[in-house]
Amino acid sequence: CGIVGYTGEASATPILVEGLTRMEYRGYDSAGVAVEQDGGIQVITRKGKVAELAHTLGHFEMTGTCGIGHTRWATHGKPSEANAHPHTSCSGDIAVVHNGIIENFAELREELVGRGHVFKSETDTEVVAHLVEESYHRMLAEGTGDLRAAVAEAAARLVGAYGLAVMADAEPGTIIACRKDSPIVVGCGETGSYVASDIIAMIDATRDVVVLADGQMARLRPDGIEYYDEAGNPIKPDVTHVDWDL
Ligand code: GLU
Repeated sequence: CGIVGYTGEASATPILVEGLTRMEYRGYDSAGVAVEQDGGIQVITRKGKVAELAHTLGHFEMTGTCGIGHTRWATHGKPSEANAHPHTSCSGDIAVVHNGIIENFAELREELVGRGHVFKSETDTEVVAHLVEESYHRMLAEGTGDLRAAVAEAAARLVGAYGLAVMADAEPGTIIACRKDSPIVVGCGETGSYVASDIIAMIDATRDVVVLADGQMARLRPDGIEYYDEAGNPIKPDVTHVDWDL
């Protein structure tokens, strides 16, 4: 339901919690974050309110400067800690947040289970983490590891609606965002780069945002954002200036 992501100089966790809190008005049943920590990705999810997630996060020393967060409105799988996003690959090296519905998730899941993938949730979303993992690991083995290309390959298999933000521990400081029939906006703030499903989550950081079009992708890095078209060619997107106030 709500997506937020940040990579920059500042600690990511408070920025993610603030963004999720601002998107609470949309409704949700659970919430979670994935933050880079000690060379890996730490995922914390909670059923219920963002305030409860924030309370739990207070017990962890999460100082990582790159992370993604989500408020979930369940469509596939009951509201629970296990079904809350972010979802991860088998080895936990890929984390994904997703808005929308993957209509062909059952076929994809069966196919992935057949290749040895073990699923941890009942969601449609989790197939995305496993698809990205397969593509990314194959590309790494071929010496062409590129998270953007891996997400593009995975997204090409999806039928349905999605806004996605993805991170991988092998590409620290990087978030890949893409969409189809579900909003994703990105923008650069003073301390780093932001992605969200709703401008309200990043309005304090920047008023110049890029509203991704279907098929477009963004690679967020601490010092800037690169944009790509469906074929993977770099593009210069239109920037929208937001002049309304909260
Ligand atoms: N379909 C996904 C799920 O049920 C995402 C729902 C949402 O957009 O929050 O987990």
